[in-house]
Amino acid sequence: MQAFVYHGPGKKALEKRPKPEIQAPTDAIVKITKATICSTDLHILKGDVPTCQPGRILGHEGVGVVEKVGPAVTAFKAGDLVLISCISACGKCAYCRNFMYSHCVTGGWLLGNKIDGTQAEFVRIPCADTSLSPIPEGADEEALVMLSDILPTGFECGVLNGKVQPGNTVAIVGSGPIGLAALLTAQFYSPAEIIMIDLDNNRPEVARRFGATAVANSTDGDTMDTIMKIAAGRGADTAIEAVGIPATRELCEKIVAPASVIANIGVHGTKEDLHLENLCDRNVTITTRLVDTASTPMLLNSLRSHKIDPKLLITHRFKLDHILDAYEPFGHAADTRALKVLIETS
Ligand code: ZN
Ligand code: ZN
Repeated sequence: MQAFVYHGPGKKALEKRPKPEIQAPTDAIVKITKATICSTDLHILKGDVPTCQPGRILGHEGVGVVEKVGPAVTAFKAGDLVLISCISACGKCAYCRNFMYSHCVTGGWLLGNKIDGTQAEFVRIPCADTSLSPIPEGADEEALVMLSDILPTGFECGVLNGKVQPGNTVAIVGSGPIGLAALLTAQFYSPAEIIMIDLDNNRPEVARRFGATAVANSTDGDTMDTIMKIAAGRGADTAIEAVGIPATRELCEKIVAPASVIANIGVHGTKEDLHLENLCDRNVTITTRLVDTASTPMLLNSLRSHKIDPKLLITHRFKLDHILDAYEPFGHAADTRALKVLIETS
């Protein structure tokens, strides 16, 4: 089968690999129909993710059709259309029983990291019963791919952890796919204002189409004024950090109101200063989280009833044969205006 393989920092290839086989009774083999590229894949290609070793097939998002299942799989059978969750969960360990699938002692983020992933014609899914979701026939597969990772990530790490409430002011720092996923799902709770902040002049305009009530460019110096004007001088009740660098996290610290939440989504790779001297008397909560995908059933229902339209996030489409070209627009998103790049296998 065709597969996109990481071969060490800066090295990648589309190559022929053997079709995966059932290794454990709880496994399923899924024929991928649609996958996508995540910014995490770009981090891997740079060599920033040591758990992902050279030779690994990348990809942790996708939908497909079950090809075969191991003897212990009871919830799925060959021919079922399924959503692949970016997080694999045994469903039995203490973390799984507490819906913290990301910390599953045998699962967590395995696909395209510790085991081969979805940017291929077939993928092996461990613990299939609790790591796949059924898809009703007729559902929009393209929109569903956004539910593998970015929608649950934006919702769980940003909106739920950020305690978004009706009538509140939410500021989202970073309007890439994850920030936009937080923007889409924050609207479940009807906040009064959602301010999207980015240094890219194109992306805030996209954010308005997704439902932002205001946009601010973090490089023009009046971000603080914009937010304070909108939030009646108090600041944001929730600041969602969706980038993962010191400057964006520090901006979150500056724009929040007393008794607010800074919900961190971004993956931070360097040591950073926490300005407790400014925060210690302001009743501010800072949260961190890795997505659990525990919200996937709810998001599937919301998608089915058209409460959200994550298909808006898809800007480019490529066949798997051309996945090397697909990494180009995604890697230069500021110029190409790429958000999510859909990879189709047929
Ligand atoms: Zn991802
Ligand atoms: Zn578990």
